[in-house]
Amino acid sequence: TASTPTTAPAQAAVLPYLDPALPVATRVDDLLGRMTLDDKIGQMTQAERAVVTPADMTTYRLGSVLSGGGSAPSPNTTAGWADLYDRLQRGALATPLQIPMLYGIDAVHGNNNALGATLFPHNIGLGATRDPQLAQDVARAVAEEVSATGVDWTFAPCLCVVRDDRWGRTYESFGEDPALVSSMATTVTGFQGERLDGPTSVLATAKHFIGDGGTVGGDDQGDARITEAELRAVHLPPFEAAIDRGVGSVMVSYSSWNGVKMHGNRYLLTDVLKGELGFDGFVVSDWAAIDQLDGARGFTAQEVATSINAGIDMVMVPNDYRTFLTHLRQNVQSGAIPVARVDDAVRRILTKKVELGLFERPLADRSSASTVGSAAHRALARTAVQRSQVVLKNTGVLPLARTGGKVCVAGKNAHDIGNQSGGWTLSWQGASGATVPGTTILQGVQEVLAGGRTTTHARDASNVDASCSVAVAVLGETPYAEGEGDRPGGLSLDAADTAVLERIRSTGVPTVVVLVSGRPLDVSVLLPWVQALDVAWLPGSEGAGVADVLFGKVAPTGTLPVSWPASATQQPVNAGDGRTPLFPLGAGLTWTPGDGGVVVQPPSAPTGLTAGPTTTSTVPLTWSAPAGSSAVTGYEVHRGGLRVATTASMRFTDAGLTAGTAYTYTVRAVDAAGNVSPPSAAVTATTQPATPGPASGCTATWRTENSWGSGFTASVTVTATGTT
Ligand code: BGC
Repeated sequence: TASTPTTAPAQAAVLPYLDPALPVATRVDDLLGRMTLDDKIGQMTQAERAVVTPADMTTYRLGSVLSGGGSAPSPNTTAGWADLYDRLQRGALATPLQIPMLYGIDAVHGNNNALGATLFPHNIGLGATRDPQLAQDVARAVAEEVSATGVDWTFAPCLCVVRDDRWGRTYESFGEDPALVSSMATTVTGFQGERLDGPTSVLATAKHFIGDGGTVGGDDQGDARITEAELRAVHLPPFEAAIDRGVGSVMVSYSSWNGVKMHGNRYLLTDVLKGELGFDGFVVSDWAAIDQLDGARGFTAQEVATSINAGIDMVMVPNDYRTFLTHLRQNVQSGAIPVARVDDAVRRILTKKVELGLFERPLADRSSASTVGSAAHRALARTAVQRSQVVLKNTGVLPLARTGGKVCVAGKNAHDIGNQSGGWTLSWQGASGATVPGTTILQGVQEVLAGGRTTTHARDASNVDASCSVAVAVLGETPYAEGEGDRPGGLSLDAADTAVLERIRSTGVPTVVVLVSGRPLDVSVLLPWVQALDVAWLPGSEGAGVADVLFGKVAPTGTLPVSWPASATQQPVNAGDGRTPLFPLGAGLTWTPGDGGVVVQPPSAPTGLTAGPTTTSTVPLTWSAPAGSSAVTGYEVHRGGLRVATTASMRFTDAGLTAGTAYTYTVRAVDAAGNVSPPSAAVTATTQPATPGPASGCTATWRTENSWGSGFTASVTVTATGTT
């Protein structure tokens, strides 16, 4: 109940806005009432730390600083960061109203700008875990490592929904499925903690609003040419989920929607985001993004007005903040930007600063410094790596035994922690080589096999010969970020990988391919002949998690967060779009840990495949074959009571053959629920008609390594592709 003081209070020890006992809104209103125009426009300005001194913080009353692309202090240590933070914060506190600054960084897969931090899998790998609680735990750990540096704000999570994997930011996405991405809004809670003023709480940013993953051709900063219905159905849900979790800031997308730059889109930023969705945090621009509104370099007073009036509350300028302040001031003085708009923006920013407890504790709280790169965080990262592995093919070679013959490891990504960490690692683009502490995949294999099998390693696979009992080829991408990673021409393996594969194939040694990559690549050159394919995504600093799965310490449970294209150029391909990927969204194999030998069920009667007498496969399988073909026959491969593969064959005839044409038959099995023989999908027929003209009959055989449940009905279709 409200009460009226009967006696006048003693002279307040503090001004109302500095009184933590008062409600947040009361404090913010009090502060706003004391601010000059220069104080206000300073709050709306974010500058790159490389161009700001502590004295600048005071002079220009800057509300925020960022380290874009990881611009780091020297020394680049947790203490180095905290010292830098405190120097700049003292500059901010030297202003008349002593308003603390917010320091923002891109901690997108760990506190990845600080040397020695734990690096977790990039979002695409976390998406593969399909475990929102694990993603939240990861974000919590990241927040602990970030807050030890004093930094109070991360430009994460990226809640982009990737719809075309040629996009260079595919790995920053949790996947193509709006529901999957929305589920990962738990990361907001992980970063921010239960309360924003918790000792290790870090303000989160849902980015990039909106449609960044939906541009034509996967063009970074491109144009999403989609209807409003599609924009809302595919790209909006993750932001709603983040707002439900109280996300403190939203970053605007560089991209356009139907030709209109998001940084000038008042309808989406103000009417939809702040109005309809009720977002009560603040909206920050992307890096120098308002410069792009008129298509010319640099920013004008008009671009400043357009972006602020559209609903942007803070502008990541980031360099020429003096000119920005001049434009902003003049726009307000001329009425081009209403004072009410400025007050709304400043109120939103100050509210978060108060909620973070910055007025009470403005300087770096270094108490969580011992968590940086700690054993506990590295163990969590290793778990996340294990859980993010997606096994797409396995003839039964996995899990590899921990004792036995020589394991020959090859490929450019086997012993390169920079490659396995990807972009946003110490620098914007990341870099190959021993850039950060941690464990490479090779070291992980050596650790897991300590005292067991011997390992050899050569990047170019020159170590692979007949003395190897298995080759593990670790291939894929090298680091990139944003538009530098766009691949409009398609997603093929590079020449180094192809050379490694050719060499290994010539030896005949059983081969396991591990793909270290931010997205699906074209695997058609390897899939038909390798024994196993494991997708490791960009695992980060704990490569041992990959080895844990390969050698059976844990069974794989990751599933594809995106549809895997059937060729280098089959893009875009997304679930439900009517196109048929090589592996569908959600594909992923597993096995029973520690299972015994392989049991091959004998071929069943010609009426169809029948499940073997095992505990897990008790319901008969029935197949319907295409007209004109024989019934499907085949057998199942069981390990430890779990069916891991179905090998089937069928004869059929094709009456429509043309002379001089070679035919490839693709056989697909689809179960009653519409699943396409997951996960190995289409397989090319092994027998081609010898002579042109009506074929006397072809035999198609295929094998699906799968984890289908026992008991299903499958129908088979045959597609012929002719090449002259
Ligand atoms: C990116 C943002 C990032 C910002 C600051 C921009 O280039 O698009 O995602 O937060 O830089 O580093």
